[in-house]
Amino acid sequence: MDDRDEKARENRPGTVLRRSATAVDGWVLGRSGRSLAAAAGEFLGLVAPTECVACGGQDSVLCPSCAARLRHSTVRPARVEDAAEALPLDAFDRPLPVVAAGPYAGELSASLLAYKNRQRTGLLSVLGPALAGAVHAFAPEAQRAAAWAGSRTILLVPVPSRSSASVRRGYAPVQELLRWMRRRRLEPPGFGVASVLRTAEPWTHVLPSAPVVAVLEAARARLGAGPEGAGAQKGRGRRARAAVRGTMRSQADLRGCTCVIVDDVLTTGSTVAEAHRALAAAGAVVAGAVVVAATHDPRGSEMTVNRINGG
Ligand SMILES: [Zn+2]
Repeated sequence: MDDRDEKARENRPGTVLRRSATAVDGWVLGRSGRSLAAAAGEFLGLVAPTECVACGGQDSVLCPSCAARLRHSTVRPARVEDAAEALPLDAFDRPLPVVAAGPYAGELSASLLAYKNRQRTGLLSVLGPALAGAVHAFAPEAQRAAAWAGSRTILLVPVPSRSSASVRRGYAPVQELLRWMRRRRLEPPGFGVASVLRTAEPWTHVLPSAPVVAVLEAARARLGAGPEGAGAQKGRGRRARAAVRGTMRSQADLRGCTCVIVDDVLTTGSTVAEAHRALAAAGAVVAGAVVVAATHDPRGSEMTVNRINGG
């Protein structure tokens, strides 16, 4: 997720989403899942002295109870594309399918932020399994798309970090997550990882400067913004897509390949839309995207519905 996405999500209305039937309990809670969880616990304990990124408790980067809550929140990956207004639409006006491991909240958002912004790379051992679970949940759909396109290989393609951000951090967060998965052979059979996307820096050349944005916003306010509805949402989606258009390119010819875009957080979907554009321009069929967390997630809404029905 881009920093601008993080700002954009604060201004977006909540939306009730449908729940996906996809679940990977078997995979996550199976033998490999349990041993992974145990390994994560052992590893996280070794990173002391530090404090839990979620609750501030002493002696581990994520304490055992916060780690358990994170695992619980990512045990059922779900489809989350319906509230991301900037995702590309197909010929039937359906957004590109996206699966998220869990909602961007609580321990999961705290861990992602600490992993991305505070160099807490020890959190790979809890975020990696969450991403792997989401990739497995999306695998059948990606395989159908690949069969339809006649592709033999399905490529997991990380959304690239801006190279200035990678230099500052010393690592590219999404690429590292996939590398973690790959080392443990947690990708589904027939899936490869290809870091083929690059950002066309500097981004400032393609983005309107802050004063230009302020002038545009003021003009829009004077003209009177229309009522919030599907039209307004589509307009926001177009603007979000336009802001990042042309910022990525593929370094490889991807004709004959089916790709699954991988990112950390889904907000408006503008970053995924740009990755989709760049991959399609290189000849790939894009089956969809997988993210660790989504800011608008059906599970949060479903809890509200249950409470209303129950009382
Ligand atoms: Zn904690």
